[in-house]
Amino acid sequence: MTWSEADIVNPVSTPPRFAGHIAMAGHRDEVYLVGRQQGDSAFTQLRRFANGAGGMTAWFDDGRFAGDDPHAQAGLAVHDGWVHCVLAGSAGMEHWRLRRGSFEKLGEIPGHKSHAPPSLASDGAVLHMVHLGFLNKRLFYTTFENGAWSAGQWLHRLQSHVPPVVSCNQGNVQIFTTDASGRVRMIEKHRTAGGFQQMDMAHGMGRGTTALAACHFDQSDGLGLISMRPRPGPTTHLPPPNLLTCAVFRRGPRAGRGIWTGARRLERFVPALPGRIAAARTRRHLHLVWLDHLGRAHAAWNGATRMGDVRIGFKIARPVLATWLAGDTLERRARRLTAGANGLLGRYGVNVRQAAPPQVIDLQPDLLDLDTGGCVFRSRSEELDRLNSHRAGLSPRDVACYIVPRIGNGVVGCAFLRYDGLAMIPDTDGVNQPDTETVVLAHEIGHVLGLEHVDPARAPFNIMAGAGPLGQRLTPQQATQMMTDPNVLI
Ligand SMILES: [Zn+2]
Repeated sequence: MTWSEADIVNPVSTPPRFAGHIAMAGHRDEVYLVGRQQGDSAFTQLRRFANGAGGMTAWFDDGRFAGDDPHAQAGLAVHDGWVHCVLAGSAGMEHWRLRRGSFEKLGEIPGHKSHAPPSLASDGAVLHMVHLGFLNKRLFYTTFENGAWSAGQWLHRLQSHVPPVVSCNQGNVQIFTTDASGRVRMIEKHRTAGGFQQMDMAHGMGRGTTALAACHFDQSDGLGLISMRPRPGPTTHLPPPNLLTCAVFRRGPRAGRGIWTGARRLERFVPALPGRIAAARTRRHLHLVWLDHLGRAHAAWNGATRMGDVRIGFKIARPVLATWLAGDTLERRARRLTAGANGLLGRYGVNVRQAAPPQVIDLQPDLLDLDTGGCVFRSRSEELDRLNSHRAGLSPRDVACYIVPRIGNGVVGCAFLRYDGLAMIPDTDGVNQPDTETVVLAHEIGHVLGLEHVDPARAPFNIMAGAGPLGQRLTPQQATQMMTDPNVLI
């Protein structure tokens, strides 16, 4: 996972200057941003398109809405396929929804009021909202379901010293707050549990946090928390830069517990206004926007959200099933091969695991002798595309691993660079050489993650050697490249 280096960009040709907070949400390949420009009591809506090849369009200005309350603050989320916006102000809260490009007011949210921006997140069935109370730090929680908002609940009698944020992933609802010294706290409602529980923040998130944004990263349990802290040390007459950090929360082995990992995936000082950050997720990107002390927006985006994981699904062509199994069961065979590849790549930060149970597939006869079209080279064969249409049970970011009887040119495996399907032949070395297939799989996954062949003379025993003895290792450069190639879309 890496952040685009072309990250600090002014979003539109005449950069808007925002006052107050900004809110952001992603829907399919679009990012929506809502904020109030300086000197304007209405909200400006901006939109940007993130295309699948990793590029970003400029921001489009989609107009203005609301404007009755110059102190209102916005929260944004996608729920039920709609972009929902809640405006919190001194008069109460209003629920808006984006329809045909412009926001329309759905109604008031009775009994709620806040001086701070609310945070919204959807778990698919329910829209969740957290916000501070009006002129106090109490943490309030409410939900929108079947067209109605629930009564607000002062959650656990908790307070937060910065506006709280909520994020949902796989049915879990996670709320982040800070205590008086700016340490981040998380409470979570696990999908299998009834109420919210306070979670352990094993690695802590430091003190002095002035802003939070949360957003899930992928279809696994990854959840990103963006936080901001002022730079320590003596201040100058210049506005102090702020440390922008991105931590990743993942579900641990014990049910209901999680761990923080890679807590410094993004760590850089930015000239930012404390408290003004927003994050959103589109299908293949994570987007981050922050405001500088003049209210100008800066954007960063991350094109590879795999967090080091490769999820594979084995698809075994029926004619080679018996050869491949060599007396083992389908599940055990797939598990062993996955564990082997994970053993080779896991120490470089790429965890390999199965996305779905292995499956036996029936292929058209011509695919049983696969024409690879040059594999990792410049062209991908039509046959590989056809083979890779047998993806039942796999999501777009999973990698299909096809075991086929024969691959053209006598190779043992084939993967097109940064492509989500690879092919291998069964290991014919048998039980005496159990590692061959493991190394071949690790090698092909290397291609999927953007690695090209290396010269075995210069890097002996490298996994990515195109020929020669079986490799067992990668260079540090390869490891970094694998984790940070922004064009890898799995
Ligand atoms: Zn290769």
